Amino acid sequence: MSVKYLGVILDSRLTWRENLDVKVRKAQNLLWACGRAYGVAWGLRPRVVHWLYVSIIRPSVTFASRVVTGLHTGHKTLRRHLHLLGLLDSPLCRRCGAEEETSGHILCECEALASLRYAYLDLFFLEP
Ligand SMILES: [Zn+2]
Repeated sequence: MSVKYLGVILDSRLTWRENLDVKVRKAQNLLWACGRAYGVAWGLRPRVVHWLYVSIIRPSVTFASRVVTGLHTGHKTLRRHLHLLGLLDSPLCRRCGAEEETSGHILCECEALASLRYAYLDLFFLEP
């Protein structure tokens, strides 16, 4: 089961595979379409391919990677991380206050976010 949110496909196991597969397929289709349209005889010039990669393909593939990396590493503005850095007194979740606020807690377990999880994923809680 997956859901698309802000252009990012989230699957219930947070593997990101489907999101990456879709982005790579779109990039390949774009290159083929441009090649057919503008590079009929010899293909696209290297400068054009580079421009397409830098301006269109790379931003599409890396979109939300900062968020994803932060969630995987726990180095976000989550309270547990801020507590470990000595910036907050308590690592407890700002929504439910029951457990430490980690990416796993927010994505899978927080009771305060269960209805939101159900609205998008048809699941109240996820297996981490
Ligand atoms: Zn919580």
